[in-house]
Amino acid sequence: MKNIKQSPAGPDNSSGCLSRCRQSPVVFCRHRSLSRAGPQRSPLAEVKGNAQPKVRPPAVPSRLPLSGSRLKRGPEPMESASEPAKKRTRGLGTAPQADTLHPRAPRLSTAPQRQCQAAAQRFPRKAGPCPSATALKNQKPVPTVPAQKPAASAAPVAGGKKPGRRPAWDLKGQLCDIKVELQCSRERAQTLGRENQQLRDQLQEAQQQAQALGTERSGLEGELAQVRAQAEQGQQELGSLRARVLDLEERLGTQEGLVHVLQREQLGLQEERRTLTGRLEEQERRLQASEAALSSSQAEVASLRQETAAQAALLVERGDRLHGLEMERRRLHNQLQELKGNIRVFCRVRPVLTGEPTPPPGFLLFPPGPGGPSDLPTRLSLSRSDDRRGTLTGAPAPPTRHDFSFDRVFPPESGQDEVFEEIAMLVQSALDGYPVCIFAYGQTGSGKTFTMEGGPEGDPPMEGLIPRALRHLFTVAEEMSGQGWTYSFVASYVEIYNETVRDLLATGSRKGQGGECEIRRAGPESEELTVTNARYVPVSCEREVRALLHLAHQNRAVARTAYNERSSRSHSVFQLQISGEHAARGLQCGAPLNLVDLAGSERLDPSLALGPGERDRLRETQAINSSLSTLGLVIMALSNKEPHIPYRNSKLTYLLQNSLGGSAKMLMFVNISPLEENVSESLNSLRFASKVNQCVIGTAQANKK
Ligand code: ADP
Ligand code: MG
Repeated sequence: MKNIKQSPAGPDNSSGCLSRCRQSPVVFCRHRSLSRAGPQRSPLAEVKGNAQPKVRPPAVPSRLPLSGSRLKRGPEPMESASEPAKKRTRGLGTAPQADTLHPRAPRLSTAPQRQCQAAAQRFPRKAGPCPSATALKNQKPVPTVPAQKPAASAAPVAGGKKPGRRPAWDLKGQLCDIKVELQCSRERAQTLGRENQQLRDQLQEAQQQAQALGTERSGLEGELAQVRAQAEQGQQELGSLRARVLDLEERLGTQEGLVHVLQREQLGLQEERRTLTGRLEEQERRLQASEAALSSSQAEVASLRQETAAQAALLVERGDRLHGLEMERRRLHNQLQELKGNIRVFCRVRPVLTGEPTPPPGFLLFPPGPGGPSDLPTRLSLSRSDDRRGTLTGAPAPPTRHDFSFDRVFPPESGQDEVFEEIAMLVQSALDGYPVCIFAYGQTGSGKTFTMEGGPEGDPPMEGLIPRALRHLFTVAEEMSGQGWTYSFVASYVEIYNETVRDLLATGSRKGQGGECEIRRAGPESEELTVTNARYVPVSCEREVRALLHLAHQNRAVARTAYNERSSRSHSVFQLQISGEHAARGLQCGAPLNLVDLAGSERLDPSLALGPGERDRLRETQAINSSLSTLGLVIMALSNKEPHIPYRNSKLTYLLQNSLGGSAKMLMFVNISPLEENVSESLNSLRFASKVNQCVIGTAQANKK
């Protein structure tokens, strides 16, 4: 009940009806009872219902879904807004309790009223309504039953006149009226008591119903809260869904843009695809053509492979044959060299230089060989006029003619290339593994250095034997590499002055110092000789050789200032150690190539007076002559096959002993000055060379390992 009082009036008709019932102590209505009400209709109740306060308009039904019980009680969908009021009105008029709730009207019109009427008939008084009816009439100003049934109440009134008041003296009648009235009041009290009891029961029932309704309401409120929570959640979900929708719309826009881009790309790709398809078809056509060509090529390759295999076999066979031929060539080459002589002497006469006196005609003659002018010159005639004989007879004596024959004679007009042609054969022998020693012998100024090293630098036609020989070696070594031969070259360049050895390739602090070197054996068991403190430089090209010759020239120039033209008073020995290997066949060969620019062979005139400086010169000359004589003696001893070869008598022969033996090939250039004033020295040189030329060293053997 408390909840009901506190809750605002809602659409629930029962609560509103209940509140109205409380306002009116007489009218009491209930929907439940209304529903059970029968067709009975109390006029009083109808009047009371009409007297109720203005019926509230039905509340607007909530949009929220209602529970089942609520829905059952809710208005019909098609029910009009005024329908609840009608129902209330009908309910009030049809409720079965209406008889008990409003008992006064029917009761007034039934037994009590009949009693009053009877009393009135028995005790006629002045006309007027029954006191009880009057009292009721005073209580409620509504039309009463007597008004509805005037005939019944008016029946006792004779002649249609209202009964008047009892006279004062009619105490008995008054008492009777009072008794009747008392009886009516008692009956009414009883009726009211019953009504009260009924009302209490109804109240209790209503309270129970209210309690049930409260429970139901709290349940409904819970449901409402739940529904509201659901609604809030729905709102939140709706908000998030809206945000999601916005996001999705945005993404949709992006995706649409992307779709546009992709569509454009797709168009481009389709175009590209068409192009590529066209190219692919073209490529396929080409591929087919290529495959056809490939298959034919493969067949061709197969045949070529067979051919290659045959060629390889042939190549191997030819390689073997070539090697055999190479060996044969070496043998024949060596045989040829031996036939030419293991020691050969070439005579070279330098031209008359600018400013030098022209020799008299017939001073030097180069008689042709037996084959005529086509023969290579091998002979030389030198005419010398003897002044003393002419003086004795008083008439000029005819010049004495000295004829010399050598392996080859080069007249003054012979070029460096012509000279080298003869040397090339010996260089080839060095590559084949035979030691080779080439000397330039002659007086100072006869052209030894020119023959060995050449003229001014940078003038190719004037290049001497050393650069030409090395170029030839490098070229031939390159050619031989095709046959499986690998060659390496190591160069050294020393000079021997006054029986001391000096490195001409010295660099840095040792450059020009003239530091002495010693000739030593490479090892205790080794025959090979080496010069201590001397540089042995590997060379593989002409440029490196030119650099070495330039360095040697510089070292000589430094020494020249200190020793006064020492270069002409010393022997220069250019040594090239050649090493060849045929790895496939396990062959090795090695031999030194020696190119020696000997010191001037001139002798001091004993008639000349010796000053302090001349004594040194005499000592130099004696050393030179001694070493040159030793060279001659060594050659003689080798030629005569003497048991002792005096190699140790000079540093020169000691250094060259491995290139002078029986397995070596030796060539001596005797350089001659064309000047008549040098005729004596020329004759000496020619005589020395002739002696050497007569020597035959035993059959040379290649140093093959
Ligand atoms: P050597 O070394 O025997 O003392 P050189 O080689 O120095 O003599 O020669 C002396 C000079 O003669 C040098 O100026 C050189 O250029 C020149 N000469 C030597 N032989 C020839 C030649 N065949 N042709 C041209 N000039 C030569
Ligand atoms: Mg010289």
